[in-house]
Amino acid sequence: MARNYFIAGNWKMHKTRGEAASLAKELVAALKDGKHKYLVAPSFTALETVAEIVKGSNILLGAQNCAPEEQGAHTGEVSVLQLKDVGVQTIILGHSERRHIYKEDDALINIKVRLALKHGFDVILCVGELLEEREAGKAEAVCKRQTVEGLKDVAAADISRVTIAYEPVWAIGTGKTATPEDADAIHAYIRKVIGELYGAGAAEKIIIQYGGSVKPDNAAALMAKENIDGALVGGAALKADTFVPIAKF
Ligand code: PEP
Repeated sequence: MARNYFIAGNWKMHKTRGEAASLAKELVAALKDGKHKYLVAPSFTALETVAEIVKGSNILLGAQNCAPEEQGAHTGEVSVLQLKDVGVQTIILGHSERRHIYKEDDALINIKVRLALKHGFDVILCVGELLEEREAGKAEAVCKRQTVEGLKDVAAADISRVTIAYEPVWAIGTGKTATPEDADAIHAYIRKVIGELYGAGAAEKIIIQYGGSVKPDNAAALMAKENIDGALVGGAALKADTFVPIAKF
């Protein structure tokens, strides 16, 4: 079954509103004839600005995180209700920087995944192993645990709103990319795990993005692989010059 490619840009903690607006305008113009599914995820402070620009275009609006509660006394957090209010459609959860810098564990990520789905968002659930885990032969086990725990109690009816992003931590922002073969092997494994959880149909349909130093010169080779259905792009998503060629690989 053919799956649509899904190319997403994670702008992380970059860009003022003005800078975000400029990039969003460039992308709307450059990708209007693009054939794939697109998303940009600006910082919370730029969401409203970018929402106005991508409205009516083929670029979806993503957030990089959400709080595990709907509202309340949670200083410094941003809730799903607030994200919905500014027009966010998709929430990236479990990014390795959230897991490893901010110590988010699988249980917390799972609460966020279920809350986001309950409120009608699509979710990009990020999974991926550390270098020492890969070297110890644990890459599959780590990805399985993060997938199974992250999706715990997610209903079969909701799995079509979930994208998985396989992002080996050692490849994020380092310039090191998994080879297309190594990435494809883990993608195939994650697809098998989804099959065990939700059946063959869901496994066939689920979009599994690759993330980790995707650049214009390596995107096509990665996307050519059977089980790689798109990319979650960090550094190269910060400029139209580098994101557009990836988005139109
Ligand atoms: C990311 O942050 O999701 C990412 C893949 O970053 P980079 O492309 O910079 O490695």
